[in-house]
Amino acid sequence: MTATINKTVYLINMQGNVVHTRNMPYDRQHRSTRTLDVSAMNKQFEGQCQCGEVKYRVTGIPVTIFACHCTECQRQSSSAFGMALWIRHGTVELFSGTLQKWVRRTPSGNTMECSFCPTCGTRLFHKVLERSEMMSIKPGTLNDTRWLKPAGHIWTKSAQPWICFDSNLLQYEGNPDTFSELMAAWKH
Ligand SMILES: [Zn+2]
Ligand SMILES: [Zn+2]
Repeated sequence: MTATINKTVYLINMQGNVVHTRNMPYDRQHRSTRTLDVSAMNKQFEGQCQCGEVKYRVTGIPVTIFACHCTECQRQSSSAFGMALWIRHGTVELFSGTLQKWVRRTPSGNTMECSFCPTCGTRLFHKVLERSEMMSIKPGTLNDTRWLKPAGHIWTKSAQPWICFDSNLLQYEGNPDTFSELMAAWKH
């Protein structure tokens, strides 16, 4: 499968990952029978933990950003809420350091694997093992955080009372039944 963007051809495998990028000859470009939505393209995200020992790059398809006000995220972030940048078919490369993992049960009975720096403890990634095509980056660890705007807020019933929600954004009292609205609403 190929997609053409500004004359550059991206070869994409069945999992949606870009496997090769090059300028292809004219005739081969026109053999393409299917054009991919540009928003479904792989992107790269680089970041690091607080002490700098773990430096990473995640390659994958970003699908949404939201803020979570559940008590687990409040405690994990040691702050008022947590944020999640969801990546479909993400692959993690470490430039330095190692990841330590800790596993917890979610309220829906799934298993969440949490990756963090073993030296400074900064949480970097979450993955629900039953939803293995999706991973979550704790996006405050990215090198560039200026573009992080959530599509909505979940677990608003345990939000701190001083939080002012933007009425233009999606809001859920607890866990949404489906995250498709948060994915559809996210602009990036
Ligand atoms: Zn660290
Ligand atoms: Zn949460």
